Amino acid sequence: MSIRNHAQYFIDFRTILETTKDMYKNFKTHLDKTLQEIRDAGLYKNERIIVSPQGAEIELDTGQKVINFCANNYLGLSNNPELIKAAKSALDDHGYGMSSVRFICGTTDLHKELEKKIARFFRTEDTILYAACFDANGGVFEPLLTEEDAIISDSLNHASIIDGVRLCKAQRYRYANADTDDLEKQLKLAQAQRLRLIVTDGVFSMDGNVAPLKKIVELADKYDAIVMVDESHSAGVVGETGRGVTELYNIMGQVEIITGTLGKAFGGAIGGFTTGKREIIELLRQRSRPYLFSNSIPPLVAAAGIKMIEMMTGTNTLQDKLHRNSEYFISRMTNLGFDIKPTKSAICAVMLYDARLSQEFAARLLEEGIYVIGFYYPVVPKGEARIRVQLSAAHEIEHLDKAVEAFRKIGKELNVLK
Ligand SMILES: *Cc1c(COP(=O)(O)O)cnc(C)c1O
Repeated sequence: MSIRNHAQYFIDFRTILETTKDMYKNFKTHLDKTLQEIRDAGLYKNERIIVSPQGAEIELDTGQKVINFCANNYLGLSNNPELIKAAKSALDDHGYGMSSVRFICGTTDLHKELEKKIARFFRTEDTILYAACFDANGGVFEPLLTEEDAIISDSLNHASIIDGVRLCKAQRYRYANADTDDLEKQLKLAQAQRLRLIVTDGVFSMDGNVAPLKKIVELADKYDAIVMVDESHSAGVVGETGRGVTELYNIMGQVEIITGTLGKAFGGAIGGFTTGKREIIELLRQRSRPYLFSNSIPPLVAAAGIKMIEMMTGTNTLQDKLHRNSEYFISRMTNLGFDIKPTKSAICAVMLYDARLSQEFAARLLEEGIYVIGFYYPVVPKGEARIRVQLSAAHEIEHLDKAVEAFRKIGKELNVLK
């Protein structure tokens, strides 16, 4: 195309902008009003800009260097040299993108190998990859269940599970977070349906608490249901070798469906998966819409994923370091007198209860070079504002000591500590 044509497009584009203005006016008024409401409620999200790779120490575009305690980089793999090497080598021999969904021409040997490796890691039968765990959860319910069936869901499940359930015609039951008595009540009600699926996050992201999966599996047996667990915050983190909540409770292979992400502990790039019973995965390949109608993950991500699983099964170095770091940080913070929510994960909720205090505390910590986020209603229940600290195998003891010291200093300053 000639330069003259490009110039012509530019002129057309400007006239289009001008002519649509009137039609857009009502819409714009509505959008401006909504945005103002978000600002007025103090819920407007601003993004900090990082100019370094993701890691324990990061640099912001302001030039400030901070220690990062708010990434899901649990095993410190986001900038791992071995994963980068595997990705680069796949870039050279498999190219950049697939330009296709899996079932047309988007499947490489790397995709198949990663699927097998994930299944072996979780001791399941087969795996299906997605562009994200959001898609895995969005596409898992509708193909498996109809209006004759029931989904029984934890009240604090991730947004992607909630959306996935909405896309499915099954009858919905909800139980209070991690409350197995309530779950049992809902299971009794759900006996009216043909098939039952219980779904829970493995680790809940705001408290860091672990789903009572052993008891859930027992109830599933008793009330004829299958179980799905989303291991996004627990895979790589929970359990002695990082195989998640099923490992923690010694029930590997006893849940029918596991979903997870490659975007947290597992390398942090992009990608999600569903792994479980052979027939379930087979049907998802035939019917799951985010799989059928969305692009295949790039080969370099699959290659890095393969390397990641190999590293995690070869040694336990990273998992051990993460567990040591979490225990160290939590015990020091508890000794200082901070109120920490009980946790079995790498998420540590430092309870402050007051929304304004949580924001001030986090802002002061950033000035001290500690990057954490303060959460308050509606992200957490009213009156339960907190700072969430996420530990990582990328942290060294010096990082943890600096964070604890900053918490102590500001805790005194803001009268949280005596
Ligand atoms: C982060 C998260 C997801 C989404 O994972 P992506 O791969 O980033 O889409 C899904 N479920 C849970 C429980 C999560 O924490």
